[in-house]
Formats: sequence, C-alpha cells, structure tokens
Amino acid sequence: MEIVFATGNAHKAAEAQSILGSSFAVIMPKELGIAEEIPETGATLEENAIEKCTYLWERCGKPCFADDTGLEVEALDGAPGVHTARYAGEDKRSEANMEKLLSELQNLGPEYMTVARRKARFRTVIAYKDGNGRLYTFEGILNGHIACKKSGSGGFGYDPVFVPDEADGGKTLAEVSPETKNAISHRGKAVRKLKEFLEHDK
Ligand code: IMP
Repeated sequence: MEIVFATGNAHKAAEAQSILGSSFAVIMPKELGIAEEIPETGATLEENAIEKCTYLWERCGKPCFADDTGLEVEALDGAPGVHTARYAGEDKRSEANMEKLLSELQNLGPEYMTVARRKARFRTVIAYKDGNGRLYTFEGILNGHIACKKSGSGGFGYDPVFVPDEADGGKTLAEVSPETKNAISHRGKAVRKLKEFLEHDK
C-alpha cells in the first residue's frame, strides 16, 4: 500500500519507511509533483498535523499522513509546545532555542534546578487520512526532563538538553545511540501506532 508523508525531509521519510516496513511504500509529496511548502498555521500540534494532512489529501486523494512535534515543559506551562521549532526566532536555530529554554528555566529561580521541577516531554501527533478521507490521529510521548546544561553531540534539535526517563544513567538524547533513540522516541512511538492501525485497517 502506498502512503504519502507530508514532509520534505528525506531522513524523516526513510525513518517512517523503516518503521512501517515493506508492506507500505512511503512517498514524499515532491514525488507526486507537490513541491510547495505545506501550510502550518494551527494553534496546537493536533491542528497542525490535521491541517498538513488535509492539505495533502485534497491534492493527491491518496492515503496520507502528517506529523507535528513539540517539546512541552511542565514548569513553563507546556511551552515551547507548538512553537518548539521557532522558540528563539524564525530562523529555527537549535543552539538559540536551547539557550532560551535553559535561561527561561533559570529565571524561575534556584529551586528549578532539580529533576522533579524540570519535567518535560516530547509529543508527536500524527494525522492520517485514508483513501476515503476519513481522519485518524495518533500520539507518541517521550517523558523526561531538561538538563541544567547541554551534553553530547549526537542527534538534532533539543537533544543535548533532553534527558529521557527511558535511557540509563541520566544521558541526554544527544548521548544515546541512534538505535536507542529510535526505540524510545516520540516520533517512533506515533509511527508504530499508525502502523498497528494500518495493519488492522487494510
Ligand atoms: P517537527 O514537527 O518534527 O518539525 O519538530 C518541531 C521541532 O521540535 C524541531 O524543529 C526540533 O527543534 C524539535 N524536535 C522534534 N523532534 C525532536 C527530537 O527528536 N529531538 C530534539 N528535538 C526535536
């Protein structure tokens, strides 16, 4: 079964393909001649995922899905949330985003240096529309906390400041192997839920 993924990122498409397995062929919009940037104007992760998925479905009419991810920090009332990529500015720089996050937490006071006060989670929402346009959503969560300083050089985005509960020894996501990250990640969990659904829906 062919399934179109609303992304221009070949790495993300390959990751989804490897999780979905050989029963599914993940296609990128550009392979169908859809080259424009897909709009993302929602106020929540759910709205963004649904908006992107609907936009794509209206253009191709094939089963398709879109994802949106946010980092939700408890002490910051869920921020940066839907603004995760652009937290420190429209240029989406990871270094600036992490600096802003660490300083926002520091500004709350010295009692916010403990693990318990720095709880956070990555949350991915996937919206899927089948060939008839029926909409389904799936969620993947990775719980953890925000480290007091950056550690590690692997991964991307906020990985050097995020310590997942599921990894040993308080390592950040930038310090664990790619295999470990794939096994526990919010995106991986959401795609595996989609896979389970598709296998029963076929
Ligand atoms: P997107 O919805 O996948 O584009 O993710 C939005 C933003 O969340 C990205 O620009 C990253 O800053 C951040 N992000 C998403 N997934 C991860 C991850 O696995 N590690 C670190 N940061 C991430």
